[in-house]
Amino acid sequence: MTGTSTPAATAPTATAQAAVLEGIGIGGGSAAGPVARMAPPAAMPPPRTVEPAERPAEAAAARDALAWVAADLTERAAATKGDASEVLSAQSMMAADPALADRAEALVHDGCDAAHALDAAFGAFRASLEAAGGYFAERVADLDDLRDRSVARVLGLPMPGLPDPGHPHILVAQDLAPADTALLDPANVSALVTERGGPTSHTAILAKILGLPAVVGCADAALLTDGRTVLVDGTAGTVVTDPAPDAVTQAAAREEQRRRDAARFSGPGRTADGHAVKLLVNLGALHELPAAAAADSEGVGLFRTEFLYLDRDTAPTAEEQTDAYRAVFAAFAGRRVVVRTLDAGADKPLPFVTAADEQNPALGVRGLRTADRDPRLLETQLGAIAAAADNSGAEVWVMAPMVSVPSEAAAFAERVRAHGLRTAGAMVEVPAAALRADRLVQTCDFLSVGTNDLAQYAFAADRTLGSLAEFLDPWQPALLELVRKAAQAGAGHGRPVGVCGEAAADPLLALVLVGLGVTSLSAAPSCLGDVRASLAGHSLDDCRRLAAVALDAPDATAARAAVREASAVREAPETP
Ligand code: PEP
Ligand code: MG
Repeated sequence: MTGTSTPAATAPTATAQAAVLEGIGIGGGSAAGPVARMAPPAAMPPPRTVEPAERPAEAAAARDALAWVAADLTERAAATKGDASEVLSAQSMMAADPALADRAEALVHDGCDAAHALDAAFGAFRASLEAAGGYFAERVADLDDLRDRSVARVLGLPMPGLPDPGHPHILVAQDLAPADTALLDPANVSALVTERGGPTSHTAILAKILGLPAVVGCADAALLTDGRTVLVDGTAGTVVTDPAPDAVTQAAAREEQRRRDAARFSGPGRTADGHAVKLLVNLGALHELPAAAAADSEGVGLFRTEFLYLDRDTAPTAEEQTDAYRAVFAAFAGRRVVVRTLDAGADKPLPFVTAADEQNPALGVRGLRTADRDPRLLETQLGAIAAAADNSGAEVWVMAPMVSVPSEAAAFAERVRAHGLRTAGAMVEVPAAALRADRLVQTCDFLSVGTNDLAQYAFAADRTLGSLAEFLDPWQPALLELVRKAAQAGAGHGRPVGVCGEAAADPLLALVLVGLGVTSLSAAPSCLGDVRASLAGHSLDDCRRLAAVALDAPDATAARAAVREASAVREAPETP
């Protein structure tokens, strides 16, 4: 199976002791350096009964640990900016909650030692958050992190969390939570390796935003000990341990060449024979706006608006939304911005939108379906988008997530137009939508294929489960068939069909997508240069030939390998 890893045979360029660990490559490029592991949570010692005479001191130790953790997080919040600072401040407030300290103290007075008292106090809070469901349940990971920190403090053990060895390193972790990655300093981290996670995991998306090579779902990452030198190849999805100096030099040369290739081309995307392919950026938060706007792109292909609705108990007001959209449209004046309306539910639960008691939230009332339950949400959002679009200079398109049948797209397009917005589209994320794309595309102005969800639903594989990464691989020929269906439907009616899922960020797969008939590709800004260079090195006929090769392959691994081999026949031209 792909996506799981085993120490493979010694690579031709590695030393005798070297092993090649396999996983899912993300972000392209490669980097070598020493491993720095994220410290695991402290192991709990066996419980101990605290004698009555010791209890006041033990209770004070528990309280002090919580206070220390809260103060440490406040200090780190002050030293950072934006989302990172907000995440840390929120965590600090949780740690400073007096109810937590009172509960731990009460447990110590019953004879429990400080570490176990903290563990149990956090456990009680954890259970009530989990029971609340939705957004609150999402905070459980933050609470677990606080428990680990407090327990480590009281036991005098190293703090779990991001390592800081003081030099550039390859960060290795079991998985990375948003709270960890908010603090990650790309100047010091050269690559990421995680044991868990799949191609659409948080780590994968973050690696692309930061422009770092990464290998996720690397089952043998536990073998990577602190200080060990590794070579991480985000294109091949491999981690070579103790690589031979030659291998490192060759990888650095390839990396340099990759950078040179990406730098040789600029401006609108096109194939070697001039077939235009719009290259657009994905945008998921306002703090990403400066980098997104500065990127060489024709606009935003996917503006995820969920960030406005997260971490709150009620929907943002029309004014709040208008301000945020205005900032984005101003930064992209003269370019296109495709705004996706709220995509709540499943991996993005919101307590005021989605029901906490659905048995299968990924198959429940999510995406556009939430607008049926509460039409005001969509109305307010469309009103805010229209107000912000007015006189903004940006070419504003609006699309709905999780469309399943043409009538949904038609109703959505009608609402969009009622707000004076001219261009309405539907995301193709459900196989039914792809299969009936020919009908769907006639109800609106464009389609945008969300390969992350389309893979999840086509393969009945939870997109958040690293262990199912094989099914979520965007090279799966069945997924490509669905993309082809959508692209052909668009071509038949003269309507654009883009791809905005993670598939669009892979320079090799981009050739296949264009060959299937896709007219635009939207990805993290750091990925566009490689995609542009890849297109510039191949004609539209090459792309069509490669698409046929991919569709003909028995599985994702074979498709990738066959296309890599077939594409190598044509090299990028010397001059743009
Ligand atoms: C997708 O599903 O491919 C997509 C782009 O949407 P998201 O990842 O936000 O669900
Ligand atoms: Mg989606």
